Amino acid sequence: MKLLPRTASVLALLTAAACATTGGNDAERRFKADLTTLASDAYEGREAGTRGYDLAVDYVVAQFRQMGVEPAGEDGYLQDVPLRRAYRGAPGTALATFEGPDEDLTLTDREDFLLDAPSLSDPGAEDAIATAEGGVVFAGYGIDAPSLGIDSYAGIDAAGKVVLLLQGAPDGLPSEEAAHFQSTTTKIAAAAARGASAVLVLGSAAEETPEMRARMARYADMPANTFAGRDAGHEDVVTGHLSGSAAMRLFEAAGEDLDAAATPDEAGRIAAIDLGGTMTLRAEGRFENYTAPNVVGMIEGSDPELKGEYVVLSAHLDHVGIDDGEHAKGADVIHNGAMDNASGIATMLEAARRFTTDEERPRRSVLFVAVTAEEKGLLGSEYFASNPTVPQGAMVADVNLDMPILMHDFTDVIAFGAQHSTLQDIVAEAAEGMDVTLAPDPVPEMVLFVRSDHYSFVKEGVPSVFLFLGFSNGGEQSFRNFMSTHYHQVSDSPRLPIRYDVGARFAELNYRIAKAIANADERPEWNRGDFFGDLYAGDEAAVGAD
Ligand SMILES: [Zn+2]
Repeated sequence: MKLLPRTASVLALLTAAACATTGGNDAERRFKADLTTLASDAYEGREAGTRGYDLAVDYVVAQFRQMGVEPAGEDGYLQDVPLRRAYRGAPGTALATFEGPDEDLTLTDREDFLLDAPSLSDPGAEDAIATAEGGVVFAGYGIDAPSLGIDSYAGIDAAGKVVLLLQGAPDGLPSEEAAHFQSTTTKIAAAAARGASAVLVLGSAAEETPEMRARMARYADMPANTFAGRDAGHEDVVTGHLSGSAAMRLFEAAGEDLDAAATPDEAGRIAAIDLGGTMTLRAEGRFENYTAPNVVGMIEGSDPELKGEYVVLSAHLDHVGIDDGEHAKGADVIHNGAMDNASGIATMLEAARRFTTDEERPRRSVLFVAVTAEEKGLLGSEYFASNPTVPQGAMVADVNLDMPILMHDFTDVIAFGAQHSTLQDIVAEAAEGMDVTLAPDPVPEMVLFVRSDHYSFVKEGVPSVFLFLGFSNGGEQSFRNFMSTHYHQVSDSPRLPIRYDVGARFAELNYRIAKAIANADERPEWNRGDFFGDLYAGDEAAVGAD
């Protein structure tokens, strides 16, 4: 597969889709047209901020218009998301020194440490320098979770200090809680809340192989993807990574031993340590700002009371674009993203068509949101969920579609997130109506619950569910084969043996789930005492709370 000439017009692409007429029923035919169009080479892998992504936006808008879904963005169907690529300064521009109680250290940029480009909420900023100076504290895994009985900061004062943290989370936490607490974002927020001036996450000395160092050097030149002009809440905090061997030297210079400090005591606790001394850090950054739109369509509800509430169907429209690495002449370089996530968008579009052909409109309104920059870290969904085009608090649920791998005739589905709220029963009933059973998460170690766009809605307190095809009837084999061979590879393309009839069935199921939520007397609620409900929605939002 190669790039099409730059002259391929949107009109030609849309016509190609409308004319696709291969076998099967109408839903299957439309599903195939949507998927194969969006995953064709002309769309160049749909990376947010590129021409290929804009073509995909045009395609979704045209489909919404054609099926009679109303615009519900900020500008027609569109909601522009302000995005930023943040690059580090040139090698050697970042500095890290430590004046320890026992010894002084000068560390080497990109070998001993790697600082992030500063985060800066000024939308006009093109570059920035961030500095930090303070005593050094070690705070274990950096977890602040009173509900789980973990306080990594017990006994130390982190205000104004450079905080050193271990990667990951202690053993024994449930996988979804662990995924939340081991994320660097959560750790930085906890340290920032305690007034830290810097956060350095420690690498493992055992993993410092030449390959690892080479990977770190490549990573150092890649930009971080963030929002332009939004305050992440820790603008003044310098963040980055300290290699395991450099961390060992730093502990020695403070008269301490890292291995001993990182070993849990009999109660499983890691004590915080004030290492003293003074650490000085300096990081440079350079920014490139750009925008890419979310696409938002709506079917207005019929119930005068409930139509001000919204059920959201979301799916990411972007993928990873064109591979710009070294390639042989004529090699395929386009990441078509047929399953990731043209299949999810096709599912959402077909579910939307089902609503538009219903005799009766749903009681609540339904939003169809094709989000951008999922592949950059769930950015488009985070922007929409925290800055919705409908009143905040009016979104009652999110049903997310990401990477349905449509290669087997599914007999069961996995509903990630459903067990946290009353969505469980709604999803189970809708599935039963199609002779499909709900299966428990077969891959808890992958913590898929926090890895797609519904999680952005969860963080805003919205009960959410993310449906994945189950492992029965050949599903496990297609899942494992896809993940090991095609995931984020150029081979994730329409050349895969895609079952478009299965796609149409999956769309029908998601339509039924969204419709059941839209027509229910009560909006979905978090289960009482649920970890995510308590964390993001507060107790008052949970079922059975006073
Ligand atoms: Zn992906």
